[in-house]
Amino acid sequence: MKGTGFRFDHLLSGSPASALDGFLEEGKTHGAFEYRKEDPWAVAGSAIIRQHPRFPWVMCELETARGCSRSHSGGCSFCTEPFYGSPIFRPVESIRDEVQALHNAGGRHFRLGRQPDILVYSSSRSEEYPTPIPEKVGELFTAVREAAPTLSTLHIDNVNPGTIARHPEESRSALDVIVENHTAGDVAAFGMETADPEVVARNNLKALPEQIMDAIRIVNEAGGRRDAGIPHLLPGLNFISGLSGETPGTYDLDMAFLERVLESGYLVRRVNIRQLMPFEGTPAFTDNTVGIHQARFRAFKEKVRQTFDLPMIRRVFPVGTVLKDVVMEIEGNTSFGRQMGSYPILAGIPIRVPAGTVIDAVVVDHGMRSITALPVPIDINSLPATALSWLPGIGKAKTGLVTARRPFSTLDEFRSLAGPTPLDSLFSFVRYP
Ligand code: SF4
Repeated sequence: MKGTGFRFDHLLSGSPASALDGFLEEGKTHGAFEYRKEDPWAVAGSAIIRQHPRFPWVMCELETARGCSRSHSGGCSFCTEPFYGSPIFRPVESIRDEVQALHNAGGRHFRLGRQPDILVYSSSRSEEYPTPIPEKVGELFTAVREAAPTLSTLHIDNVNPGTIARHPEESRSALDVIVENHTAGDVAAFGMETADPEVVARNNLKALPEQIMDAIRIVNEAGGRRDAGIPHLLPGLNFISGLSGETPGTYDLDMAFLERVLESGYLVRRVNIRQLMPFEGTPAFTDNTVGIHQARFRAFKEKVRQTFDLPMIRRVFPVGTVLKDVVMEIEGNTSFGRQMGSYPILAGIPIRVPAGTVIDAVVVDHGMRSITALPVPIDINSLPATALSWLPGIGKAKTGLVTARRPFSTLDEFRSLAGPTPLDSLFSFVRYP
């Protein structure tokens, strides 16, 4: 390259792995993407996860497809995935081999990712909204389970709510297969983008508000049951502001939609709200409303956090829910950690816990996007007073009494002073010399 000081003999273009493969075998300098050529490199490089600073607490993301079936109609106005055309599905055997190699290297946490819609894995490539084939989804999950028999986390990435609304029965069967084979705490991310039908039409989005509501119901029916207190699979909702056709009224429609979700009693794991990033080559690059409704955007975001996120987080993670294997990330007077997963909830622990420690923790309170939790078992005799005050039923009022009277030997002794709490079964009364 001129002026850079770099010297080279060959310049390879296209897909790096395919180009290198083609160059070494036949001297070609351009390589088109092919899973057959890429996949051996994924297996060969899998041991690199051992060099990750947080190993073995590393999420291994597996590519499952490239391209989107909605490219048949041009796709959503803002999205670059249709550039790849109709989906090319990565073969089950390739995914299995990579999972096995990662598992052999010590990987235990996996996400089947990089797909517009896991429900249509290996379905028809010639339709915009193909019908899910639950058996194909089952083959994929079975292969992953067999390749990684001691995995701890198996989550998914995106689900197209338009698929669920158009093919409810097949989608429900595919969701059942996922719930049978994954691990709890999973999220089906819905790119709904807006509840304004006008904006949906102008941007060729995938589903109307009523269809999204149907999809939320169906995912709740399939995945709402709990495993050790944690819902199996819940929808996550993504909103985008700045799309073509957006008006101030769009935000009213979006808010009204979320209010209906709350009233319905369904669970939603999280709501992501972002502003459009217009990419060159997409229709949204030249046709958008970015920056026009800034004040409404900020007000909407704030209102969602206050009036939707907080009540929803209380519903999804009620007080008393035990989160297993919270990996601590930041130590402080309040320390922070998360479980492994696609969208793990942020847990604030009101004591110092060194980063890297792994604890079980019970939910005692809620923020808008996080929960406050205490380590389990709750060590009544040694917990700092500031942490004790988070115990439901104790609060600041009784904390002074409890700390002055410690140590306790039994639950009865503790109850005679503090009364019962909803977390009594999690208490420990170790007496320290
Ligand atoms: S947003 Fe999703 S459904 Fe829409 S074009 Fe992109 S990948 Fe396809």
